[in-house]
This record gives sequence, structure tokens and C-alpha cells, in this order.
Amino acid sequence: MNDFTDGAVAAAPAAAPPKDTRKADFEANKLSKRLHHQVGLAISDFDMIEAGDKVMVCLSGGKDSYTMLDILLSLRRRAPIHFDIVAVNLDQKQPGFPAHVLPEYLAKLDIPFHIENQDTYGIVKKLVPEGQTMCSLCSRLRRGILYRVAGELGATKIALGHHRDDMVVTMLINMFFGGRLKGMPPKLVSDDGKNVVIRPLAYVAETEIEKWARHRRFPIIPCTLCGSQDNLQRVQVKKMLRDWERQHPGRSDNMLRAMAHVVPSHLMDRKLFPFTTVQATGVPDADGDVAFDEEPCAPPAAASPLRWQAGPSRDTQE
Ligand code: SF4
Repeated sequence: MNDFTDGAVAAAPAAAPPKDTRKADFEANKLSKRLHHQVGLAISDFDMIEAGDKVMVCLSGGKDSYTMLDILLSLRRRAPIHFDIVAVNLDQKQPGFPAHVLPEYLAKLDIPFHIENQDTYGIVKKLVPEGQTMCSLCSRLRRGILYRVAGELGATKIALGHHRDDMVVTMLINMFFGGRLKGMPPKLVSDDGKNVVIRPLAYVAETEIEKWARHRRFPIIPCTLCGSQDNLQRVQVKKMLRDWERQHPGRSDNMLRAMAHVVPSHLMDRKLFPFTTVQATGVPDADGDVAFDEEPCAPPAAASPLRWQAGPSRDTQE
């Protein structure tokens, strides 16, 4: 397992000096450390990047993918292994898409990049009846194109900018509307079986990404150019989560932590646990069930956002 979390992490250079220098510098430095730590930890916990990998970083022009690229480039400079990064943007020919923004930004970074021009917008507009959401077809087309591009570029990993909140919201949507306990994994094999997809921002809260994007002054491209209506379920659940988080901070982190601590014997999936063969053993078990007691809730102090133990137990203090 490659440890991307070793060593002190200096703040990445700010694009411009903040106004309130000392306080802003202090806050930015803390945020930088948290982001580097969380991304490094996710990479290590799930062995996302190995020596010799060529990571295709998918860049949409939104805050998430800018942040992902920014932190990955910074981590690469101090990583214990060598890996390559190639940034890829799919220009879907949405009306008003400022096609010059990303090439200019990437040229300044002096890293390899590729802009793939494909008029998926035109295809989707033609095929989806007016008033219906276009996202499902649009995403499917985009996915297929990005997989193909990954093969053409010789990429061994495809990095997507989904973050902690995306993962928690996806799990809730699947529970509420799909009747499945299924989330958005930090690492998976693509549906064509040819690519490994990674989500290095898996541990990062969206609010942190928003702050980082403001601090770094990324040239954000609006995500509403296609004119598609937002997925209503996702909007509802996201709002619910944000309200909930405001009232009870730490809930989102706890939900993400829950996804890494599954207890099959305490769910109801007969494929995961042999309920039909359960027998009393007569042997006391300190970790056994306490069927008549309330499950104790973790006190807030124990819910430190970075106390992850997703893989083989790692002590992950900041
Ligand atoms: S919001 Fe627009 S660009 Fe994004 S998936 Fe939906 S249709 Fe495609």
C-alpha cells in the first residue's frame, strides 16, 4: 500500500494574495493540510494509485474537478512513487461553453492534457423529448467517450471528482428511491470492464471544496449551460443533508464512516449473511449482540471527521 499521507504538507501556493493576510493565510494553510491529508488517505486506504500509473483526471470546469487536479498534482510532487497525470476535458458543445478556459488554465500548469470535442449536447437534444431530464443519456454518452479516451491515452486509472457528499447522497437516494443499500464506491471497475475508476475526493466535504475553489480562484465554468433540470431527487436529498448537517454537524461524516463499517449480520440481506443457519453457540462473545439493549450512539467527540478505518485498520489522526 502506498502511503500518500506521510510528511508535513505545505500549503499549495495561492493564486493571489488574500486580503486579510494573516488570518486568511492561516485558514488556507489549515484547509490545504486537511485536503491533502484526506485525499492522500483515501488514495492509500483504497490503493487508488500505484507506481507507474497514468491517471486520467477528468476535468469538467467545476469546483470539484479543479480541486481534485490541484491536490493530486501537489501530492504527486511529494508522493513516494512515480505516477503520471493527464487532464482530460470533454467539450460537449453546450451552448455558451467557454472552450478557451480549460486549455488556457491547463497550459499554464504545464501538464499534459487533452480536450475531447464531441457534440453530445446535440445528440441529447435530438433524442430526449422537450421538458424531460437529459442527464441519464448525457452521462451515458459522456462515460462511453471518457472510457474510450482513457484507452487511447494509455491511462491506467480514471479519476472522477465526486466527493463525500456525493457519496452519501447517492447512498440515501438508492435507499429512499431505489430500495437498495448501495453507494458510490471510491474505486471500481468500469461497466465495460476495461477501466479502473477512482474517486480521490471520497473523504472530502463539499463545503471544503467550495472554500478551496474560492481560495484558489479557479476559473469555474457554470454547470447549467445545458439547461437541463437538476435531478429532483438528488436536489431534495442534498438539501435535506445540508439542513441536517447544519443542525447536527458530523452526520455526513458518520454516514460515510458507516459505509466503511458494514455489519452484515445486522442487516437483512440473506446473500451476505446465513441467517437460516444461525444457532446459539453457548460461547460468550464480548462483541456479540445485545438484542434487548439500545445501540449506544457515538458521542460527538468520537466522530472526528478523519478517524477513518476504512481498510486494514489505519490510525488516521490529522
Ligand atoms: S446537467 Fe447537463 S451536462 Fe450535466 S449530465 Fe445533465 S444534461 Fe449532461
